[in-house]
Amino acid sequence: MSARRGKVWLVGAGPGDPGLLTLKGARAIQNCDTLVYDYLASQAIVDLAPPECERIYVGKKAGSHTLSQNEITALIVKLALDGKRVVRLKGGDVFVFARGGEEAHALHAAGVPFEIVPGITSALAAPAYAGIPVTHRDHNTTFSVSTGHEDPLKGYTSLDYAKLANPKATTIFLMAMGNLTGIIAELRKHGLPETTPVAIVREGTKPTQETLVATVGTIVAEVERTQFAAPAIVVIGDVVREREAIRWFDRAPLFGKRVLVTRPAAQAGEFAQQLWEAGAEPVLAPTIAIGPPDDTGAVAVAVARVREYAWVIFSSVNGVEAFFWALALGGGDARAFGDTKVAAIGPKTAAALRAHGIRVDLVPNTFVNEALAEGLVQCTSAHDRVLLFRAQEARDVLPETLRSAGRTVDVVAAYKTRYVDDPELRAKAERADIVTFTSSSTVHAFVHNVPDAAGVLTERMVAAIGPITAATARGHGIRVDVVAEEFTVDGLLQALEAGVTV
Ligand code: SAH
Repeated sequence: MSARRGKVWLVGAGPGDPGLLTLKGARAIQNCDTLVYDYLASQAIVDLAPPECERIYVGKKAGSHTLSQNEITALIVKLALDGKRVVRLKGGDVFVFARGGEEAHALHAAGVPFEIVPGITSALAAPAYAGIPVTHRDHNTTFSVSTGHEDPLKGYTSLDYAKLANPKATTIFLMAMGNLTGIIAELRKHGLPETTPVAIVREGTKPTQETLVATVGTIVAEVERTQFAAPAIVVIGDVVREREAIRWFDRAPLFGKRVLVTRPAAQAGEFAQQLWEAGAEPVLAPTIAIGPPDDTGAVAVAVARVREYAWVIFSSVNGVEAFFWALALGGGDARAFGDTKVAAIGPKTAAALRAHGIRVDLVPNTFVNEALAEGLVQCTSAHDRVLLFRAQEARDVLPETLRSAGRTVDVVAAYKTRYVDDPELRAKAERADIVTFTSSSTVHAFVHNVPDAAGVLTERMVAAIGPITAATARGHGIRVDVVAEEFTVDGLLQALEAGVTV
């Protein structure tokens, strides 16, 4: 039997916003054995790798030792020859000033199979996120991307400044901040008008994006004055004028806000993605974790007998997952429900059931237990048996309302939430602009970690997913600024966008 052949994927990670990774790049990362990555904006991209994947950081920032380019090339060749599926992840595009060509060449020379997965280069994405189209019919018919790494004042440059000084072109420089004075001087010398607009975009596509706009005549002084620093893209040309109308990203209401996400890690992904899309920076701080309940036997029994009930109620996605996990463990599938009707507390829970092939019979209009209880009383008859599948530590309003209406209710604790101990939580909260609570347990767990929560949170905006969560927070003395009108993370995001003034 021959050993599996290794292979290398050279993947461009895009400029920072994790949403700009390509689908093909994401698939390569999800299937790799080893991830060799540079300094990247987004942990979210590195986190796509499977848990067992070996992650090797070779970037220049942080990290105690960094490898030379030759060492990096040798490393990926060796890993592939050892039979590993290697993803070599680079910022932006792999072939735009990124030495991907050298790595591919070495892989070819070593007989290692490889694929190139292009990424979105910062040369195009940073201007786009600053509202600057690199071409525009009114302004130019050509654009160029150059490295500003060479200092023309030192007497040598391979750039043709006579060509670059074209006022009818868009001229983009990467790595130009160190040599900006020389580059601008050279362009002026070759006749580029002083009034030509210049934009410098730093940390493009990230919540920390900043844009400086000036002219060829004033840009050097402006950079000096504002201490504008790398990593940045320099864009020169009339297209910069379009920013005034087209700027969009840094106008978004949540742009640049740091948002603490306290929900369990497994459920934080979608919310985090939505925050990125809104221009915010999610800070993941799971305060609770979901685990099996104390009495797993009761779950198995309830699952086996579900068809004996008139209704089964799911009060969260976690309950749904726990149910189907226990069902599969017992060798069952969706047929276990028979004629039993199914209720869900909200659209996410309903969607989780749908993913398991179950169409929900009832979802209340407002996603709280009171509304669900009322709806269920109307849908059931006296003496109907109802199974409630929920968290071990849930409130009793739902079973009590149903019982007082004469229904027989069996309550089964499907899962248990436990507090996560996070010694960093206070520091994370202090760095955040906005702190979100998506259930009462996230509030309790936050206070468990940060006993003086009310004080720590006074200077942050506090947002709750609904009135019950808000009341729990207020019960701990925490001021709540924003409460979602629809009690889902989508609703929370909408409320934040409406409630935040920049
Ligand atoms: N392969 C990368 C470029 C690597 S060279 C790409 O295609 O984007 C590194 C230079 O890229 C930096 O000095 C800076 O000029 C630019 N750069 C990279 N990411 C950037 C970002 N998010 N915003 C602005 N400039 C960026």
